[in-house]
Amino acid sequence: MKKVLVTGGAGYIGCHTVVELLNHDFIPIIIDNFSNTDERILQGLEEILGFMPIVYRTDCTDYKAMHEVFSLEKPDAVIHFAAFKAVGESTAHPLKYYHNNIDSLLVVLRLMDEFNVNELVFSSSCTVYGQPAMLPVNENCPPQQATSPYGYSKQVSEQIIIDTCAARPQLKCTLLRYFNPIGAHPSALIGELPYGIPNNLVPYITQTAAGIREKLTIHGNDYSTNDGTCIRDYIHVCDLAAAHVKALEWLSGQSNVCEAFNLGQGKGNSVKEVVDTFVRVNNVAVNIEIGPRRSGDVEQVYADVSKVKNALHWQTERSLDEALKDAWKWQRHLTQA
Ligand code: UDP
Repeated sequence: MKKVLVTGGAGYIGCHTVVELLNHDFIPIIIDNFSNTDERILQGLEEILGFMPIVYRTDCTDYKAMHEVFSLEKPDAVIHFAAFKAVGESTAHPLKYYHNNIDSLLVVLRLMDEFNVNELVFSSSCTVYGQPAMLPVNENCPPQQATSPYGYSKQVSEQIIIDTCAARPQLKCTLLRYFNPIGAHPSALIGELPYGIPNNLVPYITQTAAGIREKLTIHGNDYSTNDGTCIRDYIHVCDLAAAHVKALEWLSGQSNVCEAFNLGQGKGNSVKEVVDTFVRVNNVAVNIEIGPRRSGDVEQVYADVSKVKNALHWQTERSLDEALKDAWKWQRHLTQA
């Protein structure tokens, strides 16, 4: 059984991937500094799995501490999630973002070299595309000027990995470009733990429905889309987690590759459609108001998923309805806890 270091493994996408890895006979080793998640996720994981996975409370930018983990665990592969991810915060604190997101990757790549670990699955983002000229966007679409330090940190990270792969013939990498992950594990034992006021649409909707927020502000209804609101490609987090396992399985049959893959449903939904669907499938009310556009938002982006379907034999299995039901179930779990 392959041992996989999962940096950021107690985070939103990381913890769902840990479950998926164990379902496919990989041994996940979680590394997390718990700066943006907490122990509740570990309790949830323990309940789902029936045991507590191995967890290191380690900061990925700390070379010495990470060296210790690599020498103790001798992993076969790494999935590197650990990063900050709030676009708005990154604009206010660019150095915090560049330090954490870039330094952690450099430490991981350096240690993979020193310990001869040759398979890397990297968390990238559709933010690398900006507002693409073609929709659905495919992996060959040239990255646009990033609209935030967060987005730029993902572009730079991809380039660092591409350059490292070119220089190290044993290395094999996938750059997974996530569209908009939403939802939670159907058990409602793990999910996203947004601190403070959520930035993302679905946690904001669920908190409004739960009465934690007074109303949801829709950021602009004057875009050139069917109903005037922005369009995104929303993907259930469990589908996203499954793609990481497929990526690892694919890498083991490759040599010296560095491939980008879009991970989305391959179809767009507007903000209004997401709100209406949430209300319909959960039979709850959500107060809304229309506000001005949010700076940095692109009008629409959704994925061409043909490359990932053909190469990794992966596609989404869960619908928007299902994702929004699971998101509400998780919110109720949090509210009751
Ligand atoms: N959005 C909104 N109200 C909110 C949060 C988000 O109208 O309170 C919109 C946002 O403007 C974008 C879409 O929902 O059009 C998805 O935003 P999110 O922050 O979830 O993801 P992004 O695509 O920006 O990474």
